[in-house]
Amino acid sequence: MIDEAYDRAAELIAGADAVLVCAGAGMGVDSGLPDFRGTEGFWRAYPPYERLGLKFEEIADPVHFADDPALAWGFYGHRLHLYRATVPHEGFEILRGWGARVFTSNVDGQFQKAGFTDVAEVHGSIHHVQCVEPCTDEIWECSFDVTVDRESMRAVGELPSCPNCGGLARPNILMFGDWGWVPHRSQAQLDALTEWRRAQQRLVVIEIGAGTAVPTVRRQAELASAASGSLIRINTREPEVRHGRGVSLPAGAAEALRTLARRTA
Ligand SMILES: [Zn+2]
Repeated sequence: MIDEAYDRAAELIAGADAVLVCAGAGMGVDSGLPDFRGTEGFWRAYPPYERLGLKFEEIADPVHFADDPALAWGFYGHRLHLYRATVPHEGFEILRGWGARVFTSNVDGQFQKAGFTDVAEVHGSIHHVQCVEPCTDEIWECSFDVTVDRESMRAVGELPSCPNCGGLARPNILMFGDWGWVPHRSQAQLDALTEWRRAQQRLVVIEIGAGTAVPTVRRQAELASAASGSLIRINTREPEVRHGRGVSLPAGAAEALRTLARRTA
């Protein structure tokens, strides 16, 4: 059955004029990145937060930039290092070969690292910073390093500052309960993507590693495929496609894309 699903998915890709990738956290797993699935998964990836009793939603709360900047930057500084050091798995290159454009909730910059230029980062990017305040809606590329003590997960030494007012800077990432996020960079990317998508006649949407807990990516994939195309859903745990012309591939990103690459070659 999975064999037939791969055949059908390969047909859809071969017959499409354009490919849109909608990627969630599961996309990075084959590059060795953690997928914080539930509190236990998060604590497995970050044992210090288990000791502190902090869940992902709690550490990713912008309030810490105001009340405990070293704690806040410990989390994001560590992830900044991790994402800079990570090499994107071969699935990225396969998608690039299909000329895909990207919509993602990932803030890790892995698509750009793999050579993509047209990426819509709906939750922002860890490789960009803004003022905590914010005193201005400017967004800067993140050019600094943050030293993090792995035992306490706290940042050590000088923290990134806003070039405009000298106050604290923070990643330009949409966090939980975030009223201070500066959205224009992501919004411009999304507007460009929407304009491109509406111009496509036969679009295939490949949704990869997007869960149901934060449904932003799934919603985009379903919306885009309902309008003008078909949907391929690659997901190890929740691959079901409910309606319409969809194909379900219960597999990891790299394996599924490798298999599809062989069948579309
Ligand atoms: Zn400022």
